[in-house]
Amino acid sequence: EKLDIVSVFREVIDNFRPQIEEKQMSIEFKPSGKYLTLANPVIEEVFANLLSNAIKYSPDEEKIIIDIRDYGEKWKVSITDFGVGIPDEDKPKLFERFKRVDKSGVKGTGLGLAIVKRIIDLHDGKVGVEDNPAGKGSVFWVTLNKA
Ligand code: ATP
Ligand code: MG
Repeated sequence: EKLDIVSVFREVIDNFRPQIEEKQMSIEFKPSGKYLTLANPVIEEVFANLLSNAIKYSPDEEKIIIDIRDYGEKWKVSITDFGVGIPDEDKPKLFERFKRVDKSGVKGTGLGLAIVKRIIDLHDGKVGVEDNPAGKGSVFWVTLNKA
């Protein structure tokens, strides 16, 4: 049975409405078409963790941009925030369990990204983080094979 990741993402965004509204943030998500995949529904957990972080580590009233792109045999999802950002030296450690960058002052257990990496590895995908080219914040991305 195939899963449309666009509708999975819509569901995840809906689940985070209260947090998004509380911080008066906005989500930019304008996918065109459907992105069907055989990936396990556990992918919802991946999106939820990445969106949760983008909200948590952004100031009030900022936006989050979610983008899905087709690369033929795979697609790439990216979540761009305009938040606190991540220093280069911390980037490789973030996907390990209990690793946190404590400059943000935001609470968490440090498990979210380790879970994301675990799930994506199990589906032969890739996950990574880069600086937001806009000058503040981060871009977390995930690639997954379609079938
Ligand atoms: P949990 O997700 O378990 O509640 P957490 O958010 O602290 O806790 P992770 O999601 O694994 O843990 O993230 C690890 C660390 O990476 C965070 O503590 C934070 O320092 C940093 N981080 C993650 N996402 C972002 C982001 N979008 N912007 C800035 N820093 C981030
Ligand atoms: Mg988290």
